[in-house]
Amino acid sequence: MFVHLDQQTIAVVMIVFFSSTLVIAAGLVFALRVIEAGRLWAFGHVIVSGAGLALAVSAAGGAPDLGVLGAGAFVLGWLLIYRGVRVYYGLRSHAGPLAAAGVVVLGLMATSSGLPDGPRLLLAVVYGILAMISLATIGTLARTGRGRRSIGAPLVLVSSLVQLSTQLVCASHTITQAGVDRHDLTLFFAGPAGSAWALAPLIAGLLGLFGFTVMAMEQIIANNESGARVDALTGLLNRGALDLSALGLVARWQRDGQPLSCLVIDIDHFKQVNDTFGHHAGDAVLREVAQALDNSRRASDVAGRYGGEEFCILCPHTDEHQATALANRILRKVRAIPLPGQECFASVSIGVAQLRGETGSKELLWRTLFADADRALYLAKKQGRDRYVLASATFDAVPVPSLVHVTSRVMTPAA
Ligand code: GH3
Ligand code: MG
Ligand code: MG
Repeated sequence: MFVHLDQQTIAVVMIVFFSSTLVIAAGLVFALRVIEAGRLWAFGHVIVSGAGLALAVSAAGGAPDLGVLGAGAFVLGWLLIYRGVRVYYGLRSHAGPLAAAGVVVLGLMATSSGLPDGPRLLLAVVYGILAMISLATIGTLARTGRGRRSIGAPLVLVSSLVQLSTQLVCASHTITQAGVDRHDLTLFFAGPAGSAWALAPLIAGLLGLFGFTVMAMEQIIANNESGARVDALTGLLNRGALDLSALGLVARWQRDGQPLSCLVIDIDHFKQVNDTFGHHAGDAVLREVAQALDNSRRASDVAGRYGGEEFCILCPHTDEHQATALANRILRKVRAIPLPGQECFASVSIGVAQLRGETGSKELLWRTLFADADRALYLAKKQGRDRYVLASATFDAVPVPSLVHVTSRVMTPAA
């Protein structure tokens, strides 16, 4: 059996609860500021907590007029929190409709005391909008968050479900109850029964605040992890991440014996690009070449920037000859990248190697594969650049035929 709490007790619990969440949320404004959703959630909870405190003070008989203000601010805070949910999942933020809902609430706050049944209308609208926000949050989490591994999102989902049921009960109670006066606004959270159930939305609120915080932390950690793996200039994997992926692919090769190939790619005469057109122009060419590589590879291939103007692509389930199709695609795409001068295009040289049946550690196998491809690359450079060479052709020291017609390039400085 549930304990029945009087209004005064509920008000005291609310004061303690919202003071605590206000302090926590204020701290989170600082802690979660690095991501937009985190800022919106933290600010939203600061407003909601401040509003809850105002309502609690009113309920305790402190300042009855704070009830209207508190109810309105409460909705505004939740609108901000819901906007954070949309931002978090990369959805359109619906800033217009959300702002319109905010304006309706502000308008009602300003006029409710003058209207015949103003307080009741305000309360019904407040509960209605809150229920819609909870419903929309549940929908967004269930639809967009499905398939993502998260600890925070299920907590927010449970919290929203509890909040929604409470809001619907409160809304129906407000509509059916006769003669709500200004004082009833302060009962905002006490609910219709005045029982311990009144504490359910508080517990759900705490769960939600914790869930949103965990979600924000999850995104901050994911951003940091991908930042540590990705090369800032090109957006491809950096050398460390590429090495890690390579070791994983070599381990897979050891298990299933499927061919694994590697392309080492180096931009031709890149120093000349820098010297002639400047370092910024050089960076732009680097980005475009990286883009061309990324667009040429299959989804299962792993592409990274190995250093300076040197790239590497690992192709699982691909033998050396199949990898030449990728090499040709890359050569074609890069030849279409204009350099800042007139009628001058970029080119790359490529070494292609396949992991052979040597025994040894993963590290040794990966080093050998890379060295084979690098040796083939060296030969491609020697043969005139803008081409690929197969590592297998270098093993038996047979002169390697030119596989691609070489165009001579003269760089003209930008006017
Ligand atoms: P080759 O055809 O033999 O490869 O000639 P190359 O000029 O490309 O070779 P080299 O290794 O002499 O030059 C590489 C140049 O790449 C030198 C270096 O300044 C430039 N480089 C390396 N990293 C960056 C970068 O991040 N941005 C820019 N703009 N240039 C870079
Ligand atoms: Mg080069
Ligand atoms: Mg180089």
